[in-house]
Amino acid sequence: DTEILRKPAWIRVKAPTSKGYAETRKIVKDKGLVTVCEEAGCPNIGECWEKSHATFMILGEICTRACAFCNVATGLPQNVDAYEPTKIAEAVKEMGLQHVVITSVDRDDLKDGGAQHFVDVINAIRSSSPKTTIEILTPDFLRKEGAVETVIDARPDVFNHNLETVPRLYLSIRPGARYYHSMRLLERVKERDPSQFTKSGLMVGLGETKEEVMQVMDDMRSAGIDFLTIGQYLQPTRKHAAVKRFVTPEEFKAYETIAKAKGFLLVSASPLTRSSYHADSDFAKLQMA
Ligand code: SF4
Ligand code: SF4
Repeated sequence: DTEILRKPAWIRVKAPTSKGYAETRKIVKDKGLVTVCEEAGCPNIGECWEKSHATFMILGEICTRACAFCNVATGLPQNVDAYEPTKIAEAVKEMGLQHVVITSVDRDDLKDGGAQHFVDVINAIRSSSPKTTIEILTPDFLRKEGAVETVIDARPDVFNHNLETVPRLYLSIRPGARYYHSMRLLERVKERDPSQFTKSGLMVGLGETKEEVMQVMDDMRSAGIDFLTIGQYLQPTRKHAAVKRFVTPEEFKAYETIAKAKGFLLVSASPLTRSSYHADSDFAKLQMA
């Protein structure tokens, strides 16, 4: 089925033109940093960067996996940049970030899946910006014994790992990943350090049913997951999985209401919600509450 659905009006976004956007762009370029905002072609870049909210992507721009929804390039991975933790810490300080989100490509090639590099980045930010809260969005560390524990012990404030879709669609959308492994990873974080907030996200519009989404919410709550994001999947290129349908803003609102009733502490569900969308302001609100 190669039919391309027309984007509904609620998906259209403005081109980024603000001064704040240009300033964020300059810091990212000057430091030679990689952001998922750019790599994934995120529709929120104008809005987020204007407010100095960016998600840094560590461990290179080339991923060892090839998920059917993701725009990040797949191939032979790059060498790990030993100066990256310092560069990111400098950028966080320069941008005066109160909350930073760090993510990475998947590094199946590295013995620890890149866990120690996550730790080094967390430690570098902590030492130069001790008040900045740190959210990490990690790969699944599948078959990397001890990797998750290494990262948990660096004590990020928010430990995020996306489930992405319902288990039935894993084989076509997220091959190479395992639903229960990913769920278990987040449960492990809570067991080892209950003071960390755990977070996960789903894309919808890939052919999942509402019942399946609700089941995932229940699984997430059983694993103690605190925060949830749900957003519309958008097809990055024609080579990626097709959009099956555009979920309406009303349906997103309903998901949000249900998720809150199920006990999630923070819920963001809207067509343009992404894993890191409003992560800074939402977390700040929670801390003040
Ligand atoms: Fe970047 Fe996340 Fe904002 Fe998208 S939603 S622009 S990935 S910070
Ligand atoms: Fe993209 Fe992550 Fe999948 Fe790599 S593992 S292709 S970065 S979603």
